[in-house]
Amino acid sequence: MPQNSGSSPNFVPLTTMSKLMCPHGGSVQIAAARLRPIPPRQGSIVTENDSFNVCGCGFAPAGPSPCLRVVWLASNSDLQVDGQNTLNYTSIGQCVTQHGIVQGPVIIVAES
Ligand SMILES: [Zn+2]
Repeated sequence: MPQNSGSSPNFVPLTTMSKLMCPHGGSVQIAAARLRPIPPRQGSIVTENDSFNVCGCGFAPAGPSPCLRVVWLASNSDLQVDGQNTLNYTSIGQCVTQHGIVQGPVIIVAES
């Protein structure tokens, strides 16, 4: 069960336009399972169960070991869409390899 640590209304929900990075310089490509526009903002609001794929991670402590995707540990249960928790600046996610090995926290660069 994800913890609820992002309940502050001061934080806007993340969207497909938000900028996220892994700790090793990889960028996170966000894709929503369903379009959920939230004008006047651009993009679609996303939930913890949407796709967060890491691209361009250079982590290679003993050979290439790139981050592949983001797993969310804490999300915002106070704002749900399609019955799923949304995310915001206070949400906590971990970047994992294709084998599910945790490599560090995702960095939320911009909510957009
Ligand atoms: Zn990485």
